[in-house]
Amino acid sequence: MNLLLMGPPGAGKGTQGKRLGAKYSIPLVSTGDILRANVSDGTDLGKKAKSFMNAGELVPDALVLEMISDRLAQEDCAKGFILDGFPRNTAQAESLAGVLEGLSKSIDLALGIDVPDAELVKRLCGRRICTNKACGSGYHLDFDPPKAEGICDDCGSELYQRADDCEETIGARLKVYGEQTAPLIEYYTERKLFKAIDGTGPLDGITAIIVDAVDGR
Ligand code: AMP
Repeated sequence: MNLLLMGPPGAGKGTQGKRLGAKYSIPLVSTGDILRANVSDGTDLGKKAKSFMNAGELVPDALVLEMISDRLAQEDCAKGFILDGFPRNTAQAESLAGVLEGLSKSIDLALGIDVPDAELVKRLCGRRICTNKACGSGYHLDFDPPKAEGICDDCGSELYQRADDCEETIGARLKVYGEQTAPLIEYYTERKLFKAIDGTGPLDGITAIIVDAVDGR
């Protein structure tokens, strides 16, 4: 089963994606996470991507495409995958269709998680993430704080704030989403693959709605 998780930054794609990955035993493939790992490892790709990411802009398609086609061809994606953060524009969606065709695969469902902009800004500004990549637990300073300030409840590692989770960059990211990514709703609706999900309210309720949509597709 091959799923796309769509929606603006802060909609909960990563959180819900992890839950779905565990439920269906398929990997969550996040282009943002792969790019951030490249930035922190100082790879050539990371060096090229960093300035775009810190400005809240999209990394050039060619860089992301090579990265994602390598990732989707890996063995753990054989039984399915959940894509988070890709595609981000129509050119990427077309390229994805081509890559998947080459692997004799296709998208089964594109889920678009909806959250109003004002709530997204609040969610992103307060977001803190565990530095331990194997853990990666997420917190929010107001809505879901860790028990000890700056420390992950789950593994005891330090928490960090993403460089692009600051107020100036959030505006740019939401603008990019509206202009370049939101048109994909129409793209996947035309292909009868799109399902909108209300991303407000308790996390468990949102997961249940998504699971219903996936199982009933
Ligand atoms: P995310 O973690 O999905 O919010 O992505 C963080 C940043 O990584 C984005 O603001 C972009 O700069 C970059 N990025 C992630 N996925 C893509 C993509 N599919 N195409 C271009 N840039 C991306």
